[in-house]
Amino acid sequence: MKQDLKIFDGHNDVLFRLYLKNKKNVHEDFLLGDNEGHLDLPRMNKAGFSGGFFAIYVPSQEEKIESADKPIRYDDMKNDSYELPLPDSVDASVALPIVLKKIQILKNIEIESNGHVKICENANDLEQSISNKQLSVIMHIEGAEAIGNNLDNLDTLYNLGLRSIGPVWSRPTLFAHGVPFKFPSTPDIGEGLTNLGKDLIKECNRLKMIIDLSHLNERGFWDTAKISESPLIATHSNAHSICPHTRNLTDNQLHAIKETEGMVGVNFAPAFLRTDGKMISDTNLDIILRHFDYLIEKLGEDRVGFGSDFDGALIPSELSDVLGLIKITDLMKKHGYNDDLMQKLCHDNWTNTIKRIFS
Ligand SMILES: [Zn+2]
Repeated sequence: MKQDLKIFDGHNDVLFRLYLKNKKNVHEDFLLGDNEGHLDLPRMNKAGFSGGFFAIYVPSQEEKIESADKPIRYDDMKNDSYELPLPDSVDASVALPIVLKKIQILKNIEIESNGHVKICENANDLEQSISNKQLSVIMHIEGAEAIGNNLDNLDTLYNLGLRSIGPVWSRPTLFAHGVPFKFPSTPDIGEGLTNLGKDLIKECNRLKMIIDLSHLNERGFWDTAKISESPLIATHSNAHSICPHTRNLTDNQLHAIKETEGMVGVNFAPAFLRTDGKMISDTNLDIILRHFDYLIEKLGEDRVGFGSDFDGALIPSELSDVLGLIKITDLMKKHGYNDDLMQKLCHDNWTNTIKRIFS
């Protein structure tokens, strides 16, 4: 079975998965298909996955990371309640070389793809790559450690194609404080943006870069809302009123996202979907529809999309990998979403929002 709908997705960690393979020419594994993890190009083509944010994540030093599943200990997240300690901060001098390595993997993918993959740096790139049926890539950094003190490396990364920044991946940075993986809990946990974090938001506005609020705590969210002139975006977070996890968005946050004509991508990780917050793969896909329904009710039809977290998190076993998108879109259609709405949720909401920020 092949997917007819085109999917644009808010978050994946395939670059982390490829980086961990620690081998030369790893871009070939992606382009030819290694059938590992959730994503590679042949499977993405079959699933209709036509574009998205490709995250660059820096693992914490003290962790011995062997797989993309390791940074968060999923066993602890099977309890009725939990709070995982956050790893220590990572210095820019450690983060930058790792980020540059991952950018190189992504560049190699683009260069060796025979025109099938395009890193999109502006609205025109995105439009062109969609009409050329290329895989449209938005280069995203999940945790801004590599940008460093005084925002030293922002220009370098921008010039390499970086267009989207999450100030934190949960652990603290020079810019902000993230949410620990805690359930049940409000996301209002810890301090807001630092002064340098506020400068970063202003610079992102100036450069027309996307600011991703997933992983940021609530005070950081509101600080950003106060300063930023850009739509509020959470690339891979769900509704807190269904699943009261720190990683999810409260109704007040959703309201602010709507006001700025922002966007939320629905995350497939069970811990952020389930009402009991458990990270278990035996999770019915109906809960994904519940989050879609709720987010559409709060944000309207134009502000919701996918934020899969493929290759970055455990996903329901029924999905197995990117090909599971076919199952989800079938369920969405059966659930009563018409063609027009499907086109928006699967693709156009993300691409329209990105084009607006880039312009
Ligand atoms: Zn994430």
